[in-house]
Amino acid sequence: MQETPMTPPSAPVALVTGGSRGIGRAVVERLLTDGYDVSYCYRTRPEDADDVVKLAEDHGRRLYEAAVDVTDEQAVIAYLAKTAERLGPLDAVVTSAGIVHDSPLATMSAHAWHSVIETNLTGTYNVCRAAVFPMIKHARGTIVNISSVTGVYGNATQSNYAASKAGIIGFTKSLAKEVARFGIRANVVAPGLIATDMTDGMSDRARAKLLKQIPLGRIGSAAEVADAVSFLASERASYITGQVLQIDGGISQ
Ligand code: NDP
Repeated sequence: MQETPMTPPSAPVALVTGGSRGIGRAVVERLLTDGYDVSYCYRTRPEDADDVVKLAEDHGRRLYEAAVDVTDEQAVIAYLAKTAERLGPLDAVVTSAGIVHDSPLATMSAHAWHSVIETNLTGTYNVCRAAVFPMIKHARGTIVNISSVTGVYGNATQSNYAASKAGIIGFTKSLAKEVARFGIRANVVAPGLIATDMTDGMSDRARAKLLKQIPLGRIGSAAEVADAVSFLASERASYITGQVLQIDGGISQ
């Protein structure tokens, strides 16, 4: 756990789960350069975490990072409270922590099912549940939950993952309706195939097959997803709530 020295608390505050790698990491970097003070979490501190500390310092932003398992409700509550204590009330929450555990349903273990649902869906609930009351109290805030095109269209061998990601969409659309009257927005970003550790292990055959289904003909970058998150979290998206923005190179089924 590390933090940079205090600077005047004038910037908006964002919290990102799963901010150590991949899409979450790109979001952390993007929000720091956008001018947010940022809190982010992971399970294991990555070797290059000091690069993020340096980026925050270079931009004069405050940074708070912590090892927090999003499946642990009490740890999440404590993490959000600590973030508010260090950085101030949250303006933006981005839930990017997620895992895959692929298998055909016929052979899927209970562990593969429960671990994916617990991390992706219950983890999103834990974070949004802890964030929403303070946001209501301050009558401001925006939430961006990371789903997946798999949650929209389904994908063979990913029934657990698809269920978790479709759940995030229904969850966020409902939340958006609940909190709009308090001036709070909630949206979903649903990436397609994005180059991160999560997709690194994919076989060449599976990758080639998927690429054929992508009209833009290439894998997306984490920075391209972060760009969409940055937009939805910002005032530029002030009349957008309850939406699913697909960042997927045009995949439609
Ligand atoms: P990565 O595997 O690169 O990174 C996952 C991040 O989530 C890491 O920071 C990891 O931290 C964190 N994390 C995982 N489990 C937990 C947990 N229980 N508690 C806290 N943090 C956790 O994944 P991506 O960046 O590729 O994916 C990010 C999100 O985007 C996920 O929700 C994923 O489902 C979604 N997505 C990704 C796509 C892709 O093509 N890459 C496509 C569509 C959606 P640690 O290293 O410490 O475990």
